[in-house]
Amino acid sequence: MIDNHCHPFSLDGEPLDLSALSLDVGQEPDADERRRRMGPGRVAVELLTARLAARLGCEPDELGAARARAAVDWEAYVSGLFADVGITALVMDPAWPAGAAEHLEDYATVSHCSIHPILRIEPIVDQAIGEGAGAEEIVRTVLDAMADAVSRGFVAFKTIVAYRTGLDVDPQATLRDAQSSLLQDLPVARRGKALRDLIFRRALGVAADLGRPFQVHTGIGDSEIRLREANPLLLEELLRTPEGSAVPIVLIHGSYPWHDEQAYLAATKPNVWADISLFTIFSPVTVGDRLLRILDLAPAAKILAATDGYQQPELFWFGAHVLAEGWDEAAKRLAAAGARSGWLRDVNQAFFEGNARTLYGI
Ligand SMILES: [Zn+2]
Repeated sequence: MIDNHCHPFSLDGEPLDLSALSLDVGQEPDADERRRRMGPGRVAVELLTARLAARLGCEPDELGAARARAAVDWEAYVSGLFADVGITALVMDPAWPAGAAEHLEDYATVSHCSIHPILRIEPIVDQAIGEGAGAEEIVRTVLDAMADAVSRGFVAFKTIVAYRTGLDVDPQATLRDAQSSLLQDLPVARRGKALRDLIFRRALGVAADLGRPFQVHTGIGDSEIRLREANPLLLEELLRTPEGSAVPIVLIHGSYPWHDEQAYLAATKPNVWADISLFTIFSPVTVGDRLLRILDLAPAAKILAATDGYQQPELFWFGAHVLAEGWDEAAKRLAAAGARSGWLRDVNQAFFEGNARTLYGI
C-alpha cells in the first residue's frame, strides 16, 4: 500500500496515550482531563486497545507496560507495524510538528518506507500575514516556495484553507481585494480571505506548471475547523477556472460526511481525485459503508487510500487495517451485485497502490 496522505510520527518512542489522540484539541485548563475521561468510551480507542493488546500478546489493561517493552527497539517495533499492513511508501505532510521536515530520512529509517513529502502552504501564508507583509509579497513568497519545494523533491502541495477562511473560494478575488482583506480585525487564522482565495487559485496554476498534484483538506478535521466551511461542493466555482481544472486535485479525508459529494466531483471533474482517510481512524466501524458509497459512483482510477496517521505509528497501522476491512466489506457487496473477481482485484490494486504511484510518480 502507498499511504497517500499522512503526517510525521514519533521518532523516539514516546509513551502511547490513546485518549490524547482525539479530534477534541481544546486547550482549556480541563481539556486533558476531559480527553482522559472521554477516551475509553470512544469506539476507536476501544478497538485500538483490544487489537494492539492482541498484537503485543498482553491483556488490554497491561497495554502501557507491554507497549513500553516493545518500544525499547523502536525501529523494529515501528517498521513491524508498517510491514504488517503492507505500507511501503508514505506521502507525508511534514508541516507539523515544527522541524519535522528536517527529519525525512529518519522517518524512512524507522518505518522502512520511502518518504515523499508534500508542501502545505498555510504556514507560509500565516507567518507572512503575522509579520505584516503586503498581499503581493505574500503571493510571491508562496509561489516561490512551491517551486523551491519541488526542486527539493516534494511530490505535491496541500492546502488547509478549510481550517482558515473556508472552501467557499471566490475565484475572482483580485490583488486589491487581497490587500484590503489583510486589514480585517481578525486573528491571523481567519484574516485575509480574499488573499487566501487569490493564493489558492494562483497556486493551482503554479502546481499545474510544475506538474504536481494539490491535496485539499475537505470534511472532517479536529475541533479547530468549522465543518460546514469544509464541504467540497463549495469549490465548484474554483474548479471551473482554468487553474482549477488544470491540475490534479485530491479531495482528502473522504470529504466526511460528504462522501456522495466527493464521489460526484471525482466522477464529473477529470482532474479531481478522492482520498479516503482520517475518518477511518475516528469512525472505524462504518468505513465499509462509507467506502461503498464512494466506490458506487467514483471511477476506480480516481480513488486513493490513506491513513492520515500522525504522532504515533499505531494510528497508521490501525487506519490501514480498518481500511482493508472496509474494502473487504464493500467488495463483498459489489461481488454480490455481480462485479467479477478480476475487476475487484484491479480496483483494489488501483485504490491501495496503483493510482498513487501514477499520480505522484512514485
Ligand atoms: Zn492530514
